[in-house]
Amino acid sequence: MKQHELFIYNSLSKKKEKFTPIHKDAVGMYVCGPTVYSNVHLGNCRTFLSFDLVFRYLKHLGYKVRYVRNITDAGHLENDGESGDDPILKKARIEQLEPMEVVQKYTVDFHTIMAKFNALPPSIEPTATGHIYEQIHIVEKIIEEGFAYEKNGSVYFDVLKFNETNNYGKLSGRQLEDMISNTRELAAQSDKKNPQDFALWKKAEPQHIMRWPSPWSEGFPGWHLECTAMSTKYLGNQFDIHGGGMDLKFPHHECEIAQAEACNHTSPVNYWMHANMLTLNGKKMSKSTGNYILPNEMFTGENDILSKPFSPTVTKFFMYQAHYRSILDFSSEALEASEKGFNKLMDAYRMLPELNTSEKSSIAVENWRNACYDAMNDDFNSPILIANLFEIVKFVNLLKDGKETISKEDLVLLKQTTHDFLFDVLGLEDNVSESSQDEEKLSAAIELLIQLRNTARANKDFAMSDKIRDELSAKGIQLKDGKDGTTFSLN
Ligand code: AMP
Ligand code: ZN
Repeated sequence: MKQHELFIYNSLSKKKEKFTPIHKDAVGMYVCGPTVYSNVHLGNCRTFLSFDLVFRYLKHLGYKVRYVRNITDAGHLENDGESGDDPILKKARIEQLEPMEVVQKYTVDFHTIMAKFNALPPSIEPTATGHIYEQIHIVEKIIEEGFAYEKNGSVYFDVLKFNETNNYGKLSGRQLEDMISNTRELAAQSDKKNPQDFALWKKAEPQHIMRWPSPWSEGFPGWHLECTAMSTKYLGNQFDIHGGGMDLKFPHHECEIAQAEACNHTSPVNYWMHANMLTLNGKKMSKSTGNYILPNEMFTGENDILSKPFSPTVTKFFMYQAHYRSILDFSSEALEASEKGFNKLMDAYRMLPELNTSEKSSIAVENWRNACYDAMNDDFNSPILIANLFEIVKFVNLLKDGKETISKEDLVLLKQTTHDFLFDVLGLEDNVSESSQDEEKLSAAIELLIQLRNTARANKDFAMSDKIRDELSAKGIQLKDGKDGTTFSLN
């Protein structure tokens, strides 16, 4: 299967690079997970679904993938703790819950939504609070290396010192000099030597209830530290892929690189991947601005923006019709168009077993299959893949009309390839056929009840025959007696 070469756009080199994993046949991938203080919105889901596609395709190519995606259940502070509070603590106060109840509630919500989207669970899902020891250990090492300092019980990363020997800003493309000139005025109110420095450990204020002992104070780790600790613990000091949303490039991922380089003297990640944003009304979907849609609102249609409900699979199909590095703007009309396309594609897929075969093919199935792989091998280009999959609609029509021919072997290959890409790689679900199967089962059950009613009538058991008719009617199933027997309708 791996005869095809995969190219990945590396945000660090800003180029598409041939993918060569550190260990042959095995891939280590880390993706920043959610901060579990609120329901995930559709924007968050887009990023996680972008990496579900990466995970699925790498597996499809035959790689053994260790996919680590964390749960941020502490320490994601706004403004690096200079102002603002831990959002989990804030939410706990508002909802009058224990912080860990908040964490549990929204972790469950996240898992439920991901399962509805048919996203595969990661291989390891570590939590920040479960790795305090590892984080403290990294802080100790960075201090030892001379790249961090303690002040009033907190520890900060010394960005200027680090930049003397390393390159702070290489991922985001920011220049330290520019950052310095933009932030000079903030310096006075802080324990930091320089405003660019970031917290590795923060001393907890008395009201901060999520706190752990450390050599410096009772406190909690800085946000960037958890990802360095958990990625290197499970994937090694150097691993293949690190992903996250575009908005995490700076400061989060820039700081992760700095921490890992300071601690382990090696660049931690070979391929940095960043997924682009889902926007609504042209603006980033975001919890804090209120500009967002929740996945459950999509599935029920309960949001004024939506003309109707959309299934998880159609929502996902809509997302994959854009490349993961492109901005995607949400609209109900675009969703409707995706739904039509998806149904057309599924109809064609379901027609495949019914096609007649010939001795020879006039359709170049092997070329078409290669084009599907070429699309995915070109930095996971799902819109091009989907455009190729739409070719089967054309094939089916031409074959049905006898304008093209296909051999038995080629039809098997066509079916298998379509199946693999639709269900294994894109992770879509054939809901329509599921619901039509359900309908078939319902019809069979009603037909049986009609027969029982006929028997009751023949036996003059009118109490029973009326009961069957009335109770079905109460459930919205109407029986109609005609010349040719009894029929039913659903309302
Ligand atoms: P958070 O829970 O805020 O840490 O976000 C979880 C993930 O969702 C991160 O990878 C973010 O980059 C990503 N994300 C947040 N907003 C959006 C958006 N509007 N579109 C796509 N991804 C997003
Ligand atoms: Zn992270």
